[in-house]
Amino acid sequence: MQPRKMNLDNLVRKNVRDLKPYSSARDEFQGLAQVYLDANENPNPTPYNRYPDPLQHELKKRISLIKGVDPKNIFLGNGSDEPIDLLFRAFCEPGIDNVVIPQPTYGMYAVSANINNVQIKTRPLTENFDLDVNAILTVVDANSKLLFLCSPNNPSGNLLSRQKVLDLLKAFPGLVILDEAYIDFAGTESYTAMLAEYENLVVLQTLSKAWGLAAIRLGMCFAHEGVINILNKIKPPYNISILTQQVALSQLEHEARKDKWVAEIVRERNQMSSALSDLPVVLHVFPSDANFLLVKVRHAKEVYQKLIRVGVVVRDRSSVILCDDCLRITIGTPEENQKLLSTLNSINGL
Ligand code: PMP
Repeated sequence: MQPRKMNLDNLVRKNVRDLKPYSSARDEFQGLAQVYLDANENPNPTPYNRYPDPLQHELKKRISLIKGVDPKNIFLGNGSDEPIDLLFRAFCEPGIDNVVIPQPTYGMYAVSANINNVQIKTRPLTENFDLDVNAILTVVDANSKLLFLCSPNNPSGNLLSRQKVLDLLKAFPGLVILDEAYIDFAGTESYTAMLAEYENLVVLQTLSKAWGLAAIRLGMCFAHEGVINILNKIKPPYNISILTQQVALSQLEHEARKDKWVAEIVRERNQMSSALSDLPVVLHVFPSDANFLLVKVRHAKEVYQKLIRVGVVVRDRSSVILCDDCLRITIGTPEENQKLLSTLNSINGL
């Protein structure tokens, strides 16, 4: 099967297609002026008295160099959660359209769907958390606008198999959102390399994980220029603050440090995986390509409470489909990981 040609005019909501977007003062004049009397700002330098660049040109240029994606194919959001929400608002007609979300996965896709009153069609992942392509395609209909795939997947930690992702990219009639929040820990090529081939591919990445910048809220969305233009059309005018733009620019200079952190975290992850497997309370450690481990234990809720009592917080995923008695454990510093291990080791009699 060949990659599909995308008809964006059919995919986008009619009100968004016909929308005349808000045009800010900084959209209308972008050169250097001597006197700025166009944006009702306070003229006294704080130094934050001016609105930031609404399209973050300088930051996109830097990200473009790091990621090998043209700036016209980049949208930046207030965390990845912002493009997730904007994709619903741009493409899903409330009460009419639907989205497909294989489960278990990152919870915000379903929350955004519910906020936007968009029906969710879901199918479970397989026992080893991979895609069941046929099962997914059975729920797809003419109103299926978005398919959410997360690779490496949260909370399971594994990469989805590439061939299955490509099969879905070819077969799904709407946009395929591929969330790569944890891609740096996986050591595989990003799907951004396939953007030219698959017009319906939207890749999400973030500075919140490998780059250690969760607090600044910067999510990256890579897609066909037509999709990027639609997101720009509906976003709040100044969605990325100057503080975030400046900090991101300076932190992106430290790529070698990011790579060192990733190598350390991956090494710790692999050691933790085998150390956890040896503990009596642990039933199974799922393979991980991310910076966390999904761990099946005896009596997850009791184990979670025991950890809380010594000040260690993990994520209880035991009520999530396919994750009975599972805890999701982020890889911390070697000392933090040791504290977790020794606490788990001291748990007997559950
Ligand atoms: N995608 C996935 C798969 C995640 O696990 C998370 C955060 N837990 C996000 C996106 C959110 O990232 P951001 O901080 O960029 O909003």
